[in-house]
Amino acid sequence: MQITEIPGIGTARAKLLANVHTVEDLVNYFPRNYVDRTQIKTISSLDVDVVQTIKATIVQGADNSVVKGKNITKLLLSDEGGSLEIVWFGRAYLKHVFKEGETYIFTGKVRENFYKLQMESPEYEKIDELQTDSVNSGRIVPLYTLPKGISQKMFRKWMKIALDMVSDKETVTLPVTHLMPRVEAIKNIHFPTSNEAFYAARHRLVFEEFFFMQLALSKLKAADFPGVVIDCRNLSNFFLPFTLTDSQKAVIEDIKKDLHSGKCMNRLVQGDVGSGKTVVAAIAAYFAVSAGYKVAIMAPTEVLARQHLKQFRIFFQGVKISLLVGSLLEREKRAIYEAIAADEPQIIIGTHALIQEKPIFNKLALVITDEQHRFGVKQRASLSNKGIYPHTMIMTATPIPRTLALILYGDMDISTIKSMPPNRQPIQTFCVNSAYRPRIMVFIEKQVALGNQVYIICPAIEDAEGINAVITYTKVLQNALPHIPITLIHGKLKNKDEIMTDFAAGKYSVLVATTVIEVGVDVPKANLIIIENAERFGLAQLHQLRGRVGRGSVQSYCILITDSKNAQTLERMRALESTTDGFVLSEFDLKRRGPGDFFGLRQHGLPEFKIANLYTDLEILKEVQATLKT
Ligand code: ADP
Ligand code: MG
Repeated sequence: MQITEIPGIGTARAKLLANVHTVEDLVNYFPRNYVDRTQIKTISSLDVDVVQTIKATIVQGADNSVVKGKNITKLLLSDEGGSLEIVWFGRAYLKHVFKEGETYIFTGKVRENFYKLQMESPEYEKIDELQTDSVNSGRIVPLYTLPKGISQKMFRKWMKIALDMVSDKETVTLPVTHLMPRVEAIKNIHFPTSNEAFYAARHRLVFEEFFFMQLALSKLKAADFPGVVIDCRNLSNFFLPFTLTDSQKAVIEDIKKDLHSGKCMNRLVQGDVGSGKTVVAAIAAYFAVSAGYKVAIMAPTEVLARQHLKQFRIFFQGVKISLLVGSLLEREKRAIYEAIAADEPQIIIGTHALIQEKPIFNKLALVITDEQHRFGVKQRASLSNKGIYPHTMIMTATPIPRTLALILYGDMDISTIKSMPPNRQPIQTFCVNSAYRPRIMVFIEKQVALGNQVYIICPAIEDAEGINAVITYTKVLQNALPHIPITLIHGKLKNKDEIMTDFAAGKYSVLVATTVIEVGVDVPKANLIIIENAERFGLAQLHQLRGRVGRGSVQSYCILITDSKNAQTLERMRALESTTDGFVLSEFDLKRRGPGDFFGLRQHGLPEFKIANLYTDLEILKEVQATLKT
């Protein structure tokens, strides 16, 4: 049934309600918030500057006047204990609404005006309407997000009519029985009969929303693409400089099965910073290459692409690997594209943009993406060749609690590298205030003298009030420690790659940086990271930054410097001091602040919910996931 069937909604108003076409749409348009108007006050007990509800009788009919070109309507009311004036601005028509002797409910903000109490522009409802079935007062009242030209009051009235039209027949069935029936839930989400009814209604609707989303995701997963069958050989031609951890082996087994299955692999490999994801990617690539196929590795930055190249060159012998990055000269790029066209390189490593620019791979069987770049069906199709889709694997260092991963990556299979390579000493983390800086200087000198390298992170590039900035900090440090080679890096510099490469090669002992160094960079000799104004960074970011050290066998340190006394900030610092486990930290953050902080939800393409909230409704989400499992 169209909404125009509802009295009061003509074509003009229907047009304003752009996405609401039918009565069904209307009742599924949920309130954004509620106000509790169950409390009716007497005029003598009103407080100033608060929105309150009164029940009062009109003493004198409305009076219109024009002051400075503005139309003012006034109305005088009284109840047992007092009297009150009401004012509206620019609503002359109200003069004809109110009649002496009638009783109304008014809800609005009360102000003191020349020692007189006044209620400004209240919402009102006539008492006999109220007695039948009030929608605006004397109850918990819904507030909607509405377009200009439609008032809350109008909308509530239509909603009430629409809800009365809804039949009691259940339209949505869920495989559980403990929830409030849908129709009752819909009625109570708009006009709750009590607090309890509201919570039960909300529970039902949140459950439903999570349920269908999870179901849709698992269907996506089931809709398999055909994939090349790859026989996974042993690693006889692969140079492994260390023994794989059991965790790495388990993930490789998952990958082997996928590659051999005849269906397209669509796998997320999760592993905390430093857990050793690169070698897993390299082994997957090895399987494809030894079966005669091509592999593309996509990195988010050029620094990371180059780093992968370096590592891959160690792992692989006799395999032609090419690098495709933005800083190459045009003719170099052309040469690589030509080589690709001639089927020369077996592995192409590059940045996302460049690899996707010219998808001309023959026999491309595997695409590996590093660091949380989601790979949509469309992109996959763009890399396909004659309808054969490549296997895809995404590596991410963001530790996502399982519950959330099921939503973010519900269409993918997930493998997790659970443990760290052996002989790693956990990074020692300390949070101190700036009074410790002289001692930290001594500590920097000591580490450098031992042949180690140091990162110092500042939140700003140039001077800003109360914030440490890379440029000034570097000058101060260079003056204080003239015998130590110190350099800086930040996003505005053109030669970032060069600086990073030089630092990795040991040309500098100290690198003062902004968060540009955050993702994936591997400098095993760096064993100390100092983070200035640590209060400015979120938990996830601090954890990622800390992951820049602790990659070698020597003891590593992370020093968080902050003068903040904010309890939440200090709690965050304590959490970092107490564990280096990213999963523990992400759970901590999820419980405390919701998923937004840790994961940067938009970036992950998290679905938007109509009513559910991932943070507060985590328990309901778990309930849904448990239901779907059985
Ligand atoms: P990330 O998961 O953060 O990408 P990397 O793959 O860069 O981690 O690995 C971090 C470091 O650990 C590298 O120097 C790598 O050579 C080393 N590494 C990886 N796996 C092992 C292992 N099984 N034993 C010893 N060292 C390892
Ligand atoms: Mg990595």
